Amino acid sequence: MKRRDFCRTSLAASIAAAYPFMINAALAKSDIAAVALDGSRIELEQGAVTALAKQMKGALLMQGDLQYDYARKVWNGMWDRHPALIARCADTDDVRRAVMFAAENGLLTAVRGGGHSWPGKSVCDGGLMIDLAEMNTVVTNPTTRRAYAQGGSLLNTLDSATLPHGLVTTAGVVSHTGVGGFTLGGGFGRLNRKHGLAVDNLVSAELVTADGKIRTVSAEQEPDLFWAIRGGGGNFGVATQFEFQLYPFDRNVLSGTIVWPIEQARDVLEFYADWYAGLSDDLYIGPAMITMPDGPSVVAMEVVYAGDPAAGEKELQPLRRIGTPIEDGVKIQDYMVMQTQEDGTFGHGIRSYAKNGMVKDFTPALVDALIESFVADPRLMFFTHTSGGAVSRVPELATAFPHRNAQVMIAVGGGWMDPAMDEEAIATARNWFGQLEPFVGGYYSNIEFDSSTSATVKNYGPAYERLSTIKAKYDPGNLFRLNRNIEPAA
Ligand SMILES: Cc1cc2nc3c(=O)[nH]c(=O)nc-3n(C[C@H](O)[C@H](O)[C@H](O)COP(=O)(O)OP(=O)(O)OC[C@H]3O[C@@H](n4cnc5c(N)ncnc54)[C@H](O)[C@@H]3O)c2cc1C
Repeated sequence: MKRRDFCRTSLAASIAAAYPFMINAALAKSDIAAVALDGSRIELEQGAVTALAKQMKGALLMQGDLQYDYARKVWNGMWDRHPALIARCADTDDVRRAVMFAAENGLLTAVRGGGHSWPGKSVCDGGLMIDLAEMNTVVTNPTTRRAYAQGGSLLNTLDSATLPHGLVTTAGVVSHTGVGGFTLGGGFGRLNRKHGLAVDNLVSAELVTADGKIRTVSAEQEPDLFWAIRGGGGNFGVATQFEFQLYPFDRNVLSGTIVWPIEQARDVLEFYADWYAGLSDDLYIGPAMITMPDGPSVVAMEVVYAGDPAAGEKELQPLRRIGTPIEDGVKIQDYMVMQTQEDGTFGHGIRSYAKNGMVKDFTPALVDALIESFVADPRLMFFTHTSGGAVSRVPELATAFPHRNAQVMIAVGGGWMDPAMDEEAIATARNWFGQLEPFVGGYYSNIEFDSSTSATVKNYGPAYERLSTIKAKYDPGNLFRLNRNIEPAA
Protein backbone atom coordinates (compact mmCIF):
# COMPACT_ATOMS: atom_id res chain seq x y z
CA MET A 1 0.00 0.00 0.00
CA LYS A 2 1.55 3.28 -1.13
CA ARG A 3 0.50 6.73 -0.02
CA ARG A 4 0.00 9.57 -2.47
CA ASP A 5 -2.39 12.38 -3.27
CA PHE A 6 -6.04 11.29 -3.28
CA CYS A 7 -6.83 13.93 -5.94
CA ARG A 8 -4.96 11.94 -8.59
CA THR A 9 -7.59 10.11 -10.56
CA SER A 10 -6.61 6.56 -11.36
CA LEU A 11 -6.13 5.67 -14.98
CA ALA A 12 -8.56 2.82 -14.55
CA ALA A 13 -11.30 5.16 -13.39
CA SER A 14 -10.73 7.55 -16.31
CA ILE A 15 -10.80 4.79 -18.89
CA ALA A 16 -13.83 3.22 -17.33
CA ALA A 17 -15.65 6.56 -17.19
CA ALA A 18 -15.08 6.99 -20.93
CA TYR A 19 -15.86 3.41 -21.93
CA PRO A 20 -18.03 1.99 -19.16
CA PHE A 21 -19.29 -0.83 -21.37
CA MET A 22 -15.76 -2.08 -22.09
CA ILE A 23 -14.21 -2.49 -18.70
CA ASN A 24 -14.68 -3.61 -15.14
CA ALA A 25 -12.74 -0.81 -13.49
CA ALA A 26 -11.62 -3.02 -10.60
CA LEU A 27 -9.78 -5.22 -13.11
CA ALA A 28 -7.91 -2.29 -14.71
CA LYS A 29 -4.21 -1.74 -14.35
CA SER A 30 -3.29 1.19 -12.09
CA ASP A 31 -3.34 1.64 -8.31
CA ILE A 32 -6.44 3.11 -6.69
CA ALA A 33 -6.63 6.19 -4.55
CA ALA A 34 -8.53 5.60 -1.33
CA VAL A 35 -9.08 6.83 2.23
CA ALA A 36 -7.75 5.06 5.31
CA LEU A 37 -9.54 4.51 8.61
CA ASP A 38 -7.86 7.60 10.06
CA GLY A 39 -8.93 9.75 7.10
CA SER A 40 -5.48 9.88 5.48
CA ARG A 41 -5.08 9.25 1.76
CA ILE A 42 -3.72 5.89 0.70
CA GLU A 43 -3.29 3.95 -2.47
CA LEU A 44 -4.56 0.43 -2.92
CA GLU A 45 -2.38 -1.85 -4.98
CA GLN A 46 -4.22 -2.78 -8.11
CA GLY A 47 -3.09 -6.39 -7.82
CA ALA A 48 -4.78 -6.77 -4.45
CA VAL A 49 -7.97 -5.14 -5.73
CA THR A 50 -8.00 -7.37 -8.79
CA ALA A 51 -7.49 -10.43 -6.60
CA LEU A 52 -10.45 -9.42 -4.43
CA ALA A 53 -12.62 -8.81 -7.51
CA LYS A 54 -11.76 -12.26 -8.85
CA GLN A 55 -12.42 -14.01 -5.55
CA MET A 56 -15.84 -12.42 -5.03
CA LYS A 57 -19.00 -13.97 -6.42
CA GLY A 58 -20.65 -10.55 -6.42
CA ALA A 59 -19.27 -7.50 -8.25
CA LEU A 60 -16.52 -5.24 -6.96
CA LEU A 61 -17.38 -1.83 -8.35
CA MET A 62 -15.46 1.39 -8.67
CA GLN A 63 -16.05 4.72 -10.31
CA GLY A 64 -16.67 4.16 -13.99
CA ASP A 65 -18.41 0.81 -13.62
CA LEU A 66 -21.93 0.75 -14.99
CA GLN A 67 -23.62 -0.03 -11.66
CA TYR A 68 -21.39 2.16 -9.51
CA ASP A 69 -23.64 5.22 -9.38
CA TYR A 70 -26.69 3.13 -8.69
CA ALA A 71 -24.96 1.15 -5.95
CA ARG A 72 -23.52 4.14 -4.09
CA LYS A 73 -26.93 5.84 -3.75
CA VAL A 74 -28.55 5.65 -0.35
CA TRP A 75 -32.06 6.56 0.72
CA ASN A 76 -31.31 10.09 1.98
CA GLY A 77 -30.57 12.22 -1.10
CA MET A 78 -28.36 14.53 0.98
CA TRP A 79 -25.50 12.01 0.84
CA ASP A 80 -23.73 12.04 -2.51
CA ARG A 81 -20.61 10.11 -1.62
CA HIS A 82 -18.11 8.21 -3.76
CA PRO A 83 -16.53 5.12 -2.22
CA ALA A 84 -13.27 3.96 -3.81
CA LEU A 85 -14.71 0.44 -3.94
CA ILE A 86 -18.17 -1.04 -3.55
CA ALA A 87 -18.24 -4.74 -2.71
CA ARG A 88 -21.67 -5.97 -3.82
CA CYS A 89 -21.56 -9.10 -1.74
CA ALA A 90 -23.41 -12.17 -2.95
CA ASP A 91 -22.88 -14.29 0.16
CA THR A 92 -21.23 -14.50 3.56
CA ASP A 93 -17.92 -15.50 2.01
CA ASP A 94 -17.91 -12.32 -0.09
CA VAL A 95 -18.52 -10.33 3.09
CA ARG A 96 -15.66 -12.13 4.81
CA ARG A 97 -13.31 -11.35 1.92
CA ALA A 98 -14.35 -7.70 1.85
CA VAL A 99 -13.89 -7.35 5.63
CA MET A 100 -10.42 -8.97 5.45
CA PHE A 101 -9.43 -6.69 2.59
CA ALA A 102 -10.57 -3.62 4.53
CA ALA A 103 -8.78 -4.75 7.70
CA GLU A 104 -5.54 -5.63 5.90
CA ASN A 105 -5.47 -2.27 4.09
CA GLY A 106 -6.71 -0.16 6.98
CA LEU A 107 -9.45 1.07 4.66
CA LEU A 108 -12.33 3.28 5.76
CA THR A 109 -15.34 0.97 5.72
CA ALA A 110 -19.08 1.55 5.48
CA VAL A 111 -21.68 -1.21 5.74
CA ARG A 112 -24.88 -0.88 3.76
CA GLY A 113 -27.94 -2.93 4.67
CA GLY A 114 -31.07 -1.19 3.38
CA GLY A 115 -29.32 2.18 2.96
CA HIS A 116 -31.73 4.11 5.25
CA SER A 117 -29.25 5.58 7.70
CA TRP A 118 -30.51 9.13 8.21
CA PRO A 119 -26.99 10.53 8.67
CA GLY A 120 -25.73 8.51 5.68
CA LYS A 121 -23.36 6.25 7.59
CA SER A 122 -23.70 3.43 5.06
CA VAL A 123 -21.76 5.22 2.32
CA CYS A 124 -18.38 6.93 2.51
CA ASP A 125 -16.04 8.99 0.37
CA GLY A 126 -12.93 7.13 -0.72
CA GLY A 127 -13.40 4.01 1.39
CA LEU A 128 -14.95 0.58 0.93
CA MET A 129 -18.72 0.21 0.95
CA ILE A 130 -19.68 -3.34 1.92
CA ASP A 131 -22.99 -3.48 0.14
CA LEU A 132 -25.48 -6.16 1.19
CA ALA A 133 -28.28 -5.08 -1.15
CA GLU A 134 -28.11 -8.35 -3.06
CA MET A 135 -28.21 -10.45 0.09
CA ASN A 136 -31.90 -9.78 0.51
CA THR A 137 -33.70 -13.09 0.92
CA VAL A 138 -35.96 -14.00 3.84
CA VAL A 139 -36.97 -17.60 4.50
CA THR A 140 -39.70 -18.60 6.95
CA ASN A 141 -39.84 -21.88 8.84
CA PRO A 142 -43.51 -22.08 9.89
CA THR A 143 -42.94 -25.19 12.00
CA THR A 144 -40.36 -23.61 14.29
CA ARG A 145 -41.87 -20.14 13.84
CA ARG A 146 -38.60 -18.60 12.77
CA ALA A 147 -37.63 -16.24 9.94
CA TYR A 148 -34.09 -16.13 8.52
CA ALA A 149 -33.39 -12.72 6.96
CA GLN A 150 -30.17 -12.00 5.08
CA GLY A 151 -28.25 -8.92 6.18
CA GLY A 152 -29.38 -6.74 3.27
CA SER A 153 -33.06 -7.66 3.27
CA LEU A 154 -35.80 -5.08 3.62
CA LEU A 155 -38.69 -4.95 6.07
CA ASN A 156 -41.15 -5.48 3.22
CA THR A 157 -39.45 -8.78 2.37
CA LEU A 158 -39.54 -9.82 6.02
CA ASP A 159 -43.28 -9.13 6.38
CA SER A 160 -44.01 -10.65 2.97
CA ALA A 161 -42.17 -13.85 3.85
CA THR A 162 -43.94 -14.43 7.18
CA LEU A 163 -47.52 -13.18 6.69
CA PRO A 164 -48.58 -15.89 4.20
CA HIS A 165 -47.82 -18.41 6.98
CA GLY A 166 -50.05 -16.53 9.43
CA LEU A 167 -46.94 -15.38 11.29
CA VAL A 168 -45.32 -12.02 12.03
CA THR A 169 -42.56 -10.26 13.94
CA THR A 170 -42.03 -6.57 14.75
CA ALA A 171 -41.03 -4.56 11.66
CA GLY A 172 -40.88 -0.78 11.20
CA VAL A 173 -43.34 1.59 9.62
CA VAL A 174 -41.72 2.21 6.21
CA SER A 175 -41.35 -1.03 4.32
CA HIS A 176 -38.29 -0.18 2.22
CA THR A 177 -36.16 0.27 5.38
CA GLY A 178 -33.40 -2.33 5.86
CA VAL A 179 -33.69 -5.15 8.39
CA GLY A 180 -29.96 -4.72 9.19
CA GLY A 181 -29.65 -1.22 10.64
CA PHE A 182 -33.22 -1.32 11.95
CA THR A 183 -32.60 -4.45 14.02
CA LEU A 184 -29.08 -3.72 15.25
CA GLY A 185 -30.21 -0.33 16.59
CA GLY A 186 -33.38 -1.57 18.32
CA GLY A 187 -36.32 -1.71 15.93
CA PHE A 188 -39.60 0.02 16.79
CA GLY A 189 -42.74 -0.96 14.89
CA ARG A 190 -46.49 -1.16 15.11
CA LEU A 191 -46.31 -4.46 17.00
CA ASN A 192 -43.65 -3.46 19.52
CA ARG A 193 -46.10 -3.11 22.41
CA LYS A 194 -47.24 -6.69 21.86
CA HIS A 195 -44.05 -8.43 20.74
CA GLY A 196 -41.24 -6.06 21.75
CA LEU A 197 -38.56 -4.45 19.64
CA ALA A 198 -36.86 -6.24 16.75
CA VAL A 199 -33.90 -6.93 19.07
CA ASP A 200 -36.23 -8.65 21.52
CA ASN A 201 -37.20 -11.11 18.80
CA LEU A 202 -33.70 -11.76 17.58
CA VAL A 203 -32.85 -15.40 18.32
CA SER A 204 -29.44 -15.49 16.67
CA ALA A 205 -27.35 -13.77 14.04
CA GLU A 206 -24.50 -14.71 11.75
CA LEU A 207 -21.79 -12.10 12.01
CA VAL A 208 -18.52 -11.48 10.19
CA THR A 209 -16.25 -9.80 12.70
CA ALA A 210 -13.25 -7.55 11.98
CA ASP A 211 -10.86 -10.53 12.18
CA GLY A 212 -12.70 -12.14 9.26
CA LYS A 213 -14.27 -14.86 11.40
CA ILE A 214 -17.84 -15.98 10.70
CA ARG A 215 -19.59 -16.32 14.04
CA THR A 216 -23.05 -17.45 15.04
CA VAL A 217 -24.14 -15.45 18.07
CA SER A 218 -27.09 -16.22 20.32
CA ALA A 219 -27.95 -16.45 24.02
CA GLU A 220 -25.82 -19.62 24.13
CA GLN A 221 -23.03 -18.81 21.64
CA GLU A 222 -20.86 -15.76 22.32
CA PRO A 223 -23.55 -14.26 24.58
CA ASP A 224 -21.59 -11.04 25.17
CA LEU A 225 -21.51 -10.32 21.47
CA PHE A 226 -25.17 -11.27 21.15
CA TRP A 227 -25.98 -8.82 23.94
CA ALA A 228 -23.99 -6.06 22.22
CA ILE A 229 -25.57 -6.37 18.78
CA ARG A 230 -29.03 -6.00 20.28
CA GLY A 231 -28.90 -2.21 20.38
CA GLY A 232 -25.20 -1.54 19.75
CA GLY A 233 -25.71 -1.00 16.01
CA GLY A 234 -23.19 -2.01 13.37
CA ASN A 235 -20.21 -1.66 15.72
CA PHE A 236 -19.35 -5.32 16.08
CA GLY A 237 -19.31 -6.79 12.60
CA VAL A 238 -21.35 -7.35 9.47
CA ALA A 239 -24.53 -9.29 10.16
CA THR A 240 -25.12 -11.59 7.21
CA GLN A 241 -28.20 -13.27 8.65
CA PHE A 242 -30.76 -12.58 11.37
CA GLU A 243 -32.97 -15.26 12.93
CA PHE A 244 -36.26 -13.88 14.27
CA GLN A 245 -38.94 -15.32 16.53
CA LEU A 246 -42.37 -15.25 14.85
CA TYR A 247 -45.87 -15.14 16.33
CA PRO A 248 -49.27 -16.29 15.07
CA PHE A 249 -51.05 -13.34 13.46
CA ASP A 250 -54.25 -12.71 11.53
CA ARG A 251 -53.17 -10.17 8.93
CA ASN A 252 -56.71 -8.75 8.75
CA VAL A 253 -56.25 -6.24 11.54
CA LEU A 254 -58.35 -3.42 12.89
CA SER A 255 -56.17 -0.54 11.78
CA GLY A 256 -56.04 2.83 10.06
CA THR A 257 -55.67 6.51 10.79
CA ILE A 258 -58.02 9.00 12.42
CA VAL A 259 -57.49 12.60 11.32
CA TRP A 260 -58.66 15.82 13.01
CA PRO A 261 -58.13 19.50 12.10
CA ILE A 262 -55.04 20.93 13.79
CA GLU A 263 -57.32 23.15 15.91
CA GLN A 264 -58.30 19.98 17.80
CA ALA A 265 -54.67 19.01 18.48
CA ARG A 266 -54.90 19.93 22.17
CA ASP A 267 -57.96 17.71 22.72
CA VAL A 268 -56.33 14.80 20.93
CA LEU A 269 -52.92 15.12 22.57
CA GLU A 270 -54.34 15.67 26.07
CA PHE A 271 -56.46 12.58 25.57
CA TYR A 272 -53.40 10.61 24.41
CA ALA A 273 -51.42 11.82 27.44
CA ASP A 274 -54.10 10.44 29.78
CA TRP A 275 -54.80 7.29 27.82
CA TYR A 276 -51.57 5.73 26.54
CA ALA A 277 -50.28 4.36 29.86
CA GLY A 278 -53.33 2.11 30.30
CA LEU A 279 -53.45 0.68 26.78
CA SER A 280 -53.57 -3.07 26.24
CA ASP A 281 -50.48 -4.56 24.56
CA ASP A 282 -52.61 -5.30 21.49
CA LEU A 283 -53.18 -1.61 20.82
CA TYR A 284 -50.59 0.57 19.12
CA ILE A 285 -51.39 4.23 18.62
CA GLY A 286 -49.12 6.93 17.28
CA PRO A 287 -50.05 10.61 17.25
CA ALA A 288 -48.60 12.89 14.57
CA MET A 289 -48.98 16.49 13.45
CA ILE A 290 -48.66 17.02 9.73
CA THR A 291 -49.18 19.77 7.18
CA MET A 292 -50.52 18.60 3.83
CA PRO A 293 -48.75 19.76 0.65
CA ASP A 294 -51.91 21.67 -0.31
CA GLY A 295 -52.22 23.57 2.93
CA PRO A 296 -54.22 22.32 5.90
CA SER A 297 -52.48 21.05 8.99
CA VAL A 298 -53.91 18.09 10.85
CA VAL A 299 -53.41 16.00 13.93
CA ALA A 300 -53.57 12.29 13.17
CA MET A 301 -53.62 9.10 15.21
CA GLU A 302 -52.40 5.90 13.67
CA VAL A 303 -54.04 2.79 15.11
CA VAL A 304 -53.19 -0.92 14.86
CA TYR A 305 -55.01 -3.42 17.05
CA ALA A 306 -53.12 -6.72 16.91
CA GLY A 307 -55.86 -8.83 18.49
CA ASP A 308 -59.56 -9.65 18.27
CA PRO A 309 -61.11 -6.76 16.28
CA ALA A 310 -64.23 -6.74 18.47
CA ALA A 311 -62.09 -6.14 21.55
CA GLY A 312 -60.22 -3.49 19.58
CA GLU A 313 -63.42 -1.66 18.66
CA LYS A 314 -64.28 -1.57 22.35
CA GLU A 315 -60.87 -0.29 23.44
CA LEU A 316 -60.95 2.39 20.74
CA GLN A 317 -64.32 3.81 21.74
CA PRO A 318 -62.94 6.61 23.96
CA LEU A 319 -60.60 7.77 21.19
CA ARG A 320 -63.44 7.88 18.73
CA ARG A 321 -65.37 10.21 21.04
CA ILE A 322 -62.66 12.88 20.84
CA GLY A 323 -63.47 15.99 18.81
CA THR A 324 -64.83 15.86 15.28
CA PRO A 325 -62.53 13.91 12.96
CA ILE A 326 -62.17 14.86 9.31
CA GLU A 327 -61.67 11.19 8.60
CA ASP A 328 -61.82 7.93 10.51
CA GLY A 329 -60.03 5.31 8.42
CA VAL A 330 -59.89 2.63 11.11
CA LYS A 331 -61.34 -0.60 9.78
CA ILE A 332 -60.41 -4.24 9.36
CA GLN A 333 -57.81 -4.31 6.62
CA ASP A 334 -54.69 -6.13 5.53
CA TYR A 335 -51.73 -5.39 7.80
CA MET A 336 -49.58 -4.54 4.75
CA VAL A 337 -51.83 -1.56 3.96
CA MET A 338 -50.50 0.07 7.12
CA GLN A 339 -46.99 -1.27 6.71
CA THR A 340 -46.62 0.35 3.28
CA GLN A 341 -48.75 3.47 3.60
CA GLU A 342 -45.77 5.76 4.39
CA ASP A 343 -43.53 4.31 1.67
CA GLY A 344 -44.31 7.09 -0.81
CA THR A 345 -44.05 9.95 1.69
CA PHE A 346 -40.55 8.75 2.60
CA GLY A 347 -39.52 7.78 -0.94
CA HIS A 348 -35.93 7.16 -1.99
CA GLY A 349 -33.86 10.21 -2.84
CA ILE A 350 -35.67 12.78 -0.69
CA ARG A 351 -33.38 15.02 1.30
CA SER A 352 -34.22 14.30 4.88
CA TYR A 353 -33.43 15.31 8.44
CA ALA A 354 -34.88 14.08 11.73
CA LYS A 355 -34.35 14.69 15.41
CA ASN A 356 -35.85 12.56 18.16
CA GLY A 357 -35.98 11.99 21.89
CA MET A 358 -37.33 9.45 24.38
CA VAL A 359 -40.14 10.53 26.68
CA LYS A 360 -40.91 8.89 30.03
CA ASP A 361 -44.05 10.88 30.80
CA PHE A 362 -46.22 12.52 28.19
CA THR A 363 -47.09 15.38 30.53
CA PRO A 364 -49.52 18.29 30.12
CA ALA A 365 -46.45 20.56 29.85
CA LEU A 366 -45.25 18.50 26.88
CA VAL A 367 -48.67 18.85 25.28
CA ASP A 368 -48.38 22.64 25.71
CA ALA A 369 -44.93 22.59 24.13
CA LEU A 370 -46.18 20.51 21.22
CA ILE A 371 -49.00 22.93 20.51
CA GLU A 372 -46.78 26.00 20.86
CA SER A 373 -43.86 24.65 18.84
CA PHE A 374 -45.86 23.29 15.91
CA VAL A 375 -44.67 24.65 12.56
CA ALA A 376 -47.09 24.44 9.63
CA ASP A 377 -44.52 23.39 7.06
CA PRO A 378 -45.40 20.62 4.60
CA ARG A 379 -41.76 19.51 4.55
CA LEU A 380 -41.76 18.66 8.25
CA MET A 381 -43.90 16.73 10.67
CA PHE A 382 -44.10 15.73 14.31
CA PHE A 383 -44.33 11.95 14.73
CA THR A 384 -44.07 9.31 17.45
CA HIS A 385 -43.56 5.66 18.21
CA THR A 386 -45.53 4.55 21.25
CA SER A 387 -43.35 2.19 23.26
CA GLY A 388 -44.23 0.60 26.62
CA GLY A 389 -45.94 -2.80 26.78
CA ALA A 390 -43.55 -5.63 25.92
CA VAL A 391 -40.71 -3.16 25.24
CA SER A 392 -40.67 -1.93 28.81
CA ARG A 393 -40.96 -5.40 30.37
CA VAL A 394 -37.43 -6.22 29.21
CA PRO A 395 -34.97 -5.16 31.95
CA GLU A 396 -32.90 -2.06 31.10
CA LEU A 397 -29.57 -3.87 30.73
CA ALA A 398 -30.83 -7.19 29.34
CA THR A 399 -29.90 -5.94 25.87
CA ALA A 400 -27.73 -3.03 24.74
CA PHE A 401 -30.82 -1.00 23.75
CA PRO A 402 -31.22 1.89 26.20
CA HIS A 403 -34.46 3.62 27.21
CA ARG A 404 -36.59 0.61 28.11
CA ASN A 405 -38.50 2.76 30.56
CA ALA A 406 -39.41 5.44 28.03
CA GLN A 407 -43.04 5.34 26.97
CA VAL A 408 -42.89 7.26 23.71
CA MET A 409 -40.32 8.28 21.13
CA ILE A 410 -41.10 11.73 19.78
CA ALA A 411 -39.54 13.11 16.60
CA VAL A 412 -39.56 16.03 14.19
CA GLY A 413 -38.45 15.24 10.68
CA GLY A 414 -39.37 15.19 7.06
CA GLY A 415 -38.13 15.62 3.56
CA TRP A 416 -37.77 17.93 0.57
CA MET A 417 -36.20 17.67 -2.88
CA ASP A 418 -34.43 21.00 -3.44
CA PRO A 419 -30.82 21.10 -2.13
CA ALA A 420 -31.19 24.87 -1.71
CA MET A 421 -33.67 24.19 1.09
CA ASP A 422 -31.29 22.04 3.17
CA GLU A 423 -29.96 24.65 5.54
CA GLU A 424 -33.23 26.40 6.26
CA ALA A 425 -35.33 23.21 6.55
CA ILE A 426 -32.80 21.63 8.93
CA ALA A 427 -32.66 24.81 11.02
CA THR A 428 -36.47 24.86 11.21
CA ALA A 429 -36.57 21.22 12.32
CA ARG A 430 -33.83 21.78 14.91
CA ASN A 431 -35.55 24.85 16.29
CA TRP A 432 -38.88 23.01 16.47
CA PHE A 433 -37.37 20.00 18.22
CA GLY A 434 -35.31 22.28 20.45
CA GLN A 435 -38.55 23.38 22.11
CA LEU A 436 -39.37 19.75 22.91
CA GLU A 437 -35.90 18.87 24.14
CA PRO A 438 -36.58 19.69 27.83
CA PHE A 439 -39.08 16.81 27.88
CA VAL A 440 -36.83 14.06 26.54
CA GLY A 441 -34.16 11.90 28.11
CA GLY A 442 -31.81 10.46 25.52
CA TYR A 443 -32.69 9.48 21.97
CA TYR A 444 -33.31 6.53 19.68
CA SER A 445 -29.94 6.14 17.99
CA ASN A 446 -31.40 4.89 14.69
CA ILE A 447 -33.09 8.25 14.08
CA GLU A 448 -30.37 10.64 15.17
CA PHE A 449 -27.84 12.79 13.35
CA ASP A 450 -25.53 13.65 16.24
CA SER A 451 -22.91 10.91 16.20
CA SER A 452 -20.39 12.56 18.53
CA THR A 453 -18.69 10.27 21.04
CA SER A 454 -19.93 12.29 24.00
CA ALA A 455 -23.55 12.02 22.84
CA THR A 456 -23.14 8.27 22.24
CA VAL A 457 -21.57 7.64 25.66
CA LYS A 458 -24.33 9.60 27.36
CA ASN A 459 -27.10 7.93 25.41
CA TYR A 460 -25.99 4.36 26.18
CA GLY A 461 -25.55 5.32 29.84
CA PRO A 462 -24.71 2.30 32.03
CA ALA A 463 -24.45 0.00 28.96
CA TYR A 464 -21.59 1.94 27.38
CA GLU A 465 -18.71 0.50 29.40
CA ARG A 466 -19.68 -3.10 28.61
CA LEU A 467 -20.21 -2.20 24.94
CA SER A 468 -16.79 -0.61 24.80
CA THR A 469 -15.14 -3.68 26.38
CA ILE A 470 -16.84 -6.00 23.88
CA LYS A 471 -15.84 -3.66 21.06
CA ALA A 472 -12.20 -3.91 22.17
CA LYS A 473 -12.42 -7.71 22.06
CA TYR A 474 -14.03 -8.04 18.62
CA ASP A 475 -12.99 -4.86 16.79
CA PRO A 476 -9.92 -3.42 18.55
CA GLY A 477 -8.93 -1.39 15.47
CA ASN A 478 -12.40 0.13 15.18
CA LEU A 479 -12.86 -1.03 11.59
CA PHE A 480 -16.62 -0.64 11.98
CA ARG A 481 -16.60 3.04 12.92
CA LEU A 482 -19.09 4.51 10.47
CA ASN A 483 -22.06 4.19 12.79
CA ARG A 484 -23.03 5.52 16.21
CA ASN A 485 -19.51 4.63 17.18
CA ILE A 486 -18.58 2.79 20.35
CA GLU A 487 -14.88 3.25 20.87
CA PRO A 488 -12.85 0.17 21.90
CA ALA A 489 -11.91 0.29 25.59
CA ALA A 490 -8.24 1.12 26.10
C1 LIG B 1 -38.00 6.30 6.05
C2 LIG B 1 -37.50 5.70 7.32
C3 LIG B 1 -38.37 5.06 8.17
C4 LIG B 1 -37.93 4.49 9.36
N1 LIG B 1 -38.81 3.88 10.18
C5 LIG B 1 -38.37 3.27 11.30
C6 LIG B 1 -39.25 2.53 12.15
O1 LIG B 1 -40.43 2.40 11.89
N2 LIG B 1 -38.75 1.98 13.27
C7 LIG B 1 -37.42 2.08 13.59
O2 LIG B 1 -37.02 1.54 14.61
N3 LIG B 1 -36.56 2.76 12.82
C8 LIG B 1 -37.00 3.35 11.68
N4 LIG B 1 -36.13 4.04 10.89
C9 LIG B 1 -34.73 4.16 11.30
C10 LIG B 1 -33.98 2.94 10.81
O3 LIG B 1 -34.11 1.92 11.77
C11 LIG B 1 -32.49 3.27 10.61
O4 LIG B 1 -32.37 4.28 9.65
C12 LIG B 1 -31.70 2.04 10.20
O5 LIG B 1 -30.33 2.31 10.31
C13 LIG B 1 -32.00 1.61 8.79
O6 LIG B 1 -31.37 0.41 8.48
P1 LIG B 1 -30.78 0.15 7.03
O7 LIG B 1 -30.19 -1.19 7.03
O8 LIG B 1 -31.80 0.49 6.02
O9 LIG B 1 -29.69 1.29 6.99
P2 LIG B 1 -28.22 1.37 6.38
O10 LIG B 1 -28.06 2.79 5.99
O11 LIG B 1 -27.97 0.34 5.37
O12 LIG B 1 -27.35 1.06 7.63
C14 LIG B 1 -27.31 1.91 8.74
C15 LIG B 1 -26.18 1.44 9.63
O13 LIG B 1 -26.55 0.18 10.17
C16 LIG B 1 -25.47 -0.71 10.11
N5 LIG B 1 -25.88 -1.88 9.32
C17 LIG B 1 -26.89 -2.00 8.45
N6 LIG B 1 -27.02 -3.26 8.06
C18 LIG B 1 -26.04 -3.95 8.67
C19 LIG B 1 -25.66 -5.31 8.69
N7 LIG B 1 -26.32 -6.23 8.01
N8 LIG B 1 -24.61 -5.66 9.46
C20 LIG B 1 -23.93 -4.76 10.19
N9 LIG B 1 -24.25 -3.46 10.21
C21 LIG B 1 -25.30 -3.07 9.47
C22 LIG B 1 -24.29 0.05 9.58
O14 LIG B 1 -23.55 0.53 10.67
C23 LIG B 1 -24.89 1.20 8.87
O15 LIG B 1 -24.11 2.35 8.92
C24 LIG B 1 -36.56 4.58 9.69
C25 LIG B 1 -35.67 5.23 8.84
C26 LIG B 1 -36.13 5.78 7.66
C27 LIG B 1 -35.16 6.49 6.77
